[in-house]
Amino acid sequence: MTTYTSRLSALRVGGAHKRWTGGRRVRRVAMLSVHTSPLHQPGTGDAGGMNVYMVELARRLAERDIEVEIFTRATAGALPCKVELAPGVSVRHVSAGPYEGLAKEDLPAQLCAFTHGVMQAWAGHRPGYYDLVHSHYWLSGQVGWLAAQRWGVPLVHAMHTMAKVKNAALAEGDCPEPSARVIGESQIVSAADRLIANTVEEAGELIRHYGAAPGKVSVVHPGVNLDRFRPDRGGRAAARARLSLPQDALIPLFAGRIQPLKAPDVLIRAVAVLLDEDPSLRERIVVPVVGGPSGSGLAKPEALHKLAAQLGVADVVRFQPPVDQDRLADWYRAATVLVMPSHSESFGLVAIEAQACGTPVIAAAVGGLPVAVRDGHTGFLVSGHDPRDYAATLRRFVDQPRLGETLGAAAAKHARDFGWGTAAADTAKAYAEAGSAHRRHLRSAHA
Ligand code: UDP
Repeated sequence: MTTYTSRLSALRVGGAHKRWTGGRRVRRVAMLSVHTSPLHQPGTGDAGGMNVYMVELARRLAERDIEVEIFTRATAGALPCKVELAPGVSVRHVSAGPYEGLAKEDLPAQLCAFTHGVMQAWAGHRPGYYDLVHSHYWLSGQVGWLAAQRWGVPLVHAMHTMAKVKNAALAEGDCPEPSARVIGESQIVSAADRLIANTVEEAGELIRHYGAAPGKVSVVHPGVNLDRFRPDRGGRAAARARLSLPQDALIPLFAGRIQPLKAPDVLIRAVAVLLDEDPSLRERIVVPVVGGPSGSGLAKPEALHKLAAQLGVADVVRFQPPVDQDRLADWYRAATVLVMPSHSESFGLVAIEAQACGTPVIAAAVGGLPVAVRDGHTGFLVSGHDPRDYAATLRRFVDQPRLGETLGAAAAKHARDFGWGTAAADTAKAYAEAGSAHRRHLRSAHA
């Protein structure tokens, strides 16, 4: 692993990159997102970090003169065929199966229909219209595999999450990902010209679990929109006033899709431990849970409410439906600390967004979170999911009232290293590398 890691660190795009000389410059990308639309509200259902990732990345690529068309499955009848999202970025709605009533798990049966829609759009253009296919999540990778081969262009793929990684870290009672997904992911790993991983850790997972060739993987850290997520002039007090939250309260915040994988239950249990140990805190603690049910959490949308009631902390927990990102920035600013006890996390955008707003993070030491959070500087990483450990870490914010401020200042500084501009520049380099790999394959096939 150490060898892989050091090799992959060198691959952090920008290091080993050579220009795609002799090949076509990438001017137009067909970006594929079968199961979720970049136009959906993130924080509930199938919409989350990947949606934000695509929107922010596509905008920044367009600023670099790389036009992006995002293909997604139509989930309502009244949707226009094509929507302009930003200059140089459009979303194309593809008819594939009924608009409503299909879960993500049903979509493998719709991949032929989706591919048909993508091919139809392509057939309406002059030859060579798209220079590259960039697929997101394994369902899109399956479509991208065929489209890229048919069009004679490179395929770049980002997994976002991987079945084998999720299955290795399941929450108690959560459903494992099916073997069909593992097979599909393995096929994409060998078909893609370039794989984009969020972190060196994720690159290692692609290599260890799926046999990806190390030289095929580019590590591109996701970014954060630093114009939107930033400390506010009025500080925490102003944000609390805007959200009608008490000024002197301890506010540990959970934000994101509510499902066992994200472990919001660990925060609720930790709060119960904290209140058991120090009942006087009850008067001055508020625990907002911002987001909506998702994934296996959809089967029991009331589970977290029931848990809070069973543990006797329902009076301090405030469930909030998902909010737009400007509003979410206020929740981050108002919080004492963001708590992210996930069992598995490819990166964890909310961790970096909260820090960009000047709020420290307590996170599980899993996946990309150790990259997003600097332990002891911008927050704390906790090993495992024992609520007592999270309670003890929260307790530090009670005992040291200045702790949040100190860590928060360092967090805002740390987050500034994660702009989307850098992510787009690194992605453009990965595109160039995919082009070189693609042409190498073509040459060896002809030879
Ligand atoms: N989010 C949002 N509104 C909400 C909750 C979350 O817009 O009410 C966004 C949040 O800003 C973040 C994304 O949803 O960009 C969640 O991304 P993350 O990587 O943390 O988790 P994922 O959904 O990818 O598992």
